[in-house]
Amino acid sequence: MIDSAHHIEPAQEHLAPGPSISYRFGSYILDASRRVLFHELTAKPLSEKLFKILLLLLQADGRVVSKDTFFDEVWPDQSPSDANLAQHLLMLRQILGERARDHSYVVTVPGIGYRLATTVERKIGLSMKQLCERCDAALEADGRAYICSYECTFCESCAMELSRRCRNCGGTLVRRPPRRTAAAAAEQAG
Ligand SMILES: [Zn+2]
Ligand SMILES: [Zn+2]
Repeated sequence: MIDSAHHIEPAQEHLAPGPSISYRFGSYILDASRRVLFHELTAKPLSEKLFKILLLLLQADGRVVSKDTFFDEVWPDQSPSDANLAQHLLMLRQILGERARDHSYVVTVPGIGYRLATTVERKIGLSMKQLCERCDAALEADGRAYICSYECTFCESCAMELSRRCRNCGGTLVRRPPRRTAAAAAEQAG
């Protein structure tokens, strides 16, 4: 049964079907279910190949991804050259705002492959963060907190100061559904 009194109206960006998996790295968020890269207030759809390349780098979480892995995963039925791969890495670096010799996101490992230079935060579904990511205020599981569709999480006063707009991805901040305690769930079920 749906408890409509406690149902929060989903914002537009919550409507993607299926499990939403997103990766945060540096000031970027990749929405893997929609293949869109968010940066501050912009959203960039990625081509299939660039998306796969970025996803492989994110999934490796800082470890080196070999050229052969890229060839097998991104060009499965083709015979790409090192130049194809290098060209796509260059495009990815441009999308990530890197300039020549400023490899703050993607690092070339000569002769072997590529790796990410940033830490990666992976999210599947609601992760219930404990702290406001703007002011570090503690957030109770059943207290008031605000999230965007990527689960960037803020306390109520920060959410209001941000005019309910996520400072990471620009998305609308909505009330985080309170997580019921086991006791409350048992009470409702019984
Ligand atoms: Zn805060
Ligand atoms: Zn956000």
